[in-house]
Amino acid sequence: MNSIELLIKNFSSLPGIGKKSAARIAYYLLKADRNYSVSLANSISEARERVRNCSICGNYTENEVCDICSDTMREKNTICLVEMPQDISVIESTGVFKGQYHVLMGHLSPIDGIGPDQLNIKQLMERAVRDSISEIIIATNPSVEGDTTALYIQKLFEEKNIKITRLASGLPVGGDLEYTDRLTLMRSIQGRLPL
Ligand SMILES: [Zn+2]
Repeated sequence: MNSIELLIKNFSSLPGIGKKSAARIAYYLLKADRNYSVSLANSISEARERVRNCSICGNYTENEVCDICSDTMREKNTICLVEMPQDISVIESTGVFKGQYHVLMGHLSPIDGIGPDQLNIKQLMERAVRDSISEIIIATNPSVEGDTTALYIQKLFEEKNIKITRLASGLPVGGDLEYTDRLTLMRSIQGRLPL
């Protein structure tokens, strides 16, 4: 395999990049300014070198503890449980939640060999006791795996005197009922609120 083929192969293993797009990116880089390729390669290795998981919540950070965990203004007794670090920035962008986070680093998926021990569940249990957590908001993805994970967590905390809630999944704002996918509609009916 020559270096162009290898480059295309490496790009095509990125999420959402098919073989055609991979080839387009590879040929673009070969034609573009040489400095761009160097800077791109450097930024990838620099990020891999510097970024690690926060020792408390698992969020991505360049320090031992992330900015959210070290923010003394945030509420300490509520944890929002997410699957991946990138979910934190989505929730943070709404500006609604002012508590703590905990990253599972995935979801339960027996088919892929991912059980409770492969996720940051033990750390969550320890943290809940240590930090006297009063509520855990489960914000796993609205998928079969996300629901299974949420149910598992809920059972774990059943007798722990901690309020467990799940994000209400609703219809997209401004969307038409007609164009809403069935699963979203189903969930919004199940999770309906009294008027
Ligand atoms: Zn953190």
